[in-house]
Amino acid sequence: MKINKAFKYRIYPNKEQLTLIHKTFGCTRFVFNRFLNQRIELYKNEEKSTTYVNQAKELTALKKDLTWLKEVDSVSLQSALRNLDTAFKNFFQKRAKYPRFKSKRNNIKSYTTKNTNNSIRIEGSMLKFPKLGLLKTKFHREIPRNHKILSATISQVPTGAYFVSITTEFEKEIIQVPSNGNIVGLDFSMKELFVSSENQRAKYPRFFRMLEAKLIKAQRKLSRMVRFSNNWYKQKTKVARIHYKIKNSRSDFLHKLSTQLVNKYNAIAIEDLNMKGMSQALKFGKSVSDNGWGMFIAMLKYKAELRGKQLVKIDRFYPSSKTCSICGAVKKDLKLSERVYTCECGNSIDRDLNASINIKNQGKLLLQY
Ligand SMILES: [Zn+2]
Repeated sequence: MKINKAFKYRIYPNKEQLTLIHKTFGCTRFVFNRFLNQRIELYKNEEKSTTYVNQAKELTALKKDLTWLKEVDSVSLQSALRNLDTAFKNFFQKRAKYPRFKSKRNNIKSYTTKNTNNSIRIEGSMLKFPKLGLLKTKFHREIPRNHKILSATISQVPTGAYFVSITTEFEKEIIQVPSNGNIVGLDFSMKELFVSSENQRAKYPRFFRMLEAKLIKAQRKLSRMVRFSNNWYKQKTKVARIHYKIKNSRSDFLHKLSTQLVNKYNAIAIEDLNMKGMSQALKFGKSVSDNGWGMFIAMLKYKAELRGKQLVKIDRFYPSSKTCSICGAVKKDLKLSERVYTCECGNSIDRDLNASINIKNQGKLLLQY
């Protein structure tokens, strides 16, 4: 099986490289916006759409007029077109909103280029990069020898630092691991991310909550400022920095947690929640998506696959909360405020723990088939 893996490193470009990187940010943004505008106009005036191939041909022609486009990595310009095309595909397949113009003021700037004829490679302690030459890079972990470099993205994050993310591909033989009863059930919890059938409660670390409080404060301050004023832009950068820190610490936390689970168990059972429907229906609004559950499930899925283990999804209509995990009786009603599940059989158990045990048992049943 072919597997992709990304390696992200901090880079320290010199003055010349910085100039060229920012020029490339600008040129790729220009290409993206210009061809987005073309698609919009084409549809508005003739109700027609166009393709990546057509636009790539036009880009080649455009470069003859706008010679400054030739100063930057040409593959990065094609990548910008490719991104635009993907954005439209995602929109048409209802996975994303209508593509938006990229602003100079975007908080994360980036461009992507492909590895052609070994144009991206590691040379000693440096990274050889198209057009930029040798980049000073902090390789905190090595790319294994069996990995092939496919592409790389250079970005500048809201803190001002520069990074390169290198996408690689490698061949791995996956051996399926039988579950042998080593299965855990996870019940989604708003407050704690999840409660497991072993009564493990995954809580975001305290500093994460502190960052969230800081974000709310900073956003409130921003909303009181005069829009587009100098101070407003300054505050906006501050907000973006906190956002970025939250995003990073969330993904760090979820990575550690998911790795730990897939190493410990041979199978993991979860409810197949429809997050979009759920956040609308329960009016949890933003907090459900921010909780990171969707990202967490995606991590569990690919990490389990890599190890030949299984992620089992339980039908979302299975009454995991209302069922007694001891005798199997199903309650008619269970209020959200009832934190302890009590049953006529004598079972008295934490509500979420009861649900996660049920999810585990359902997972076991499903794995038998
Ligand atoms: Zn019971």
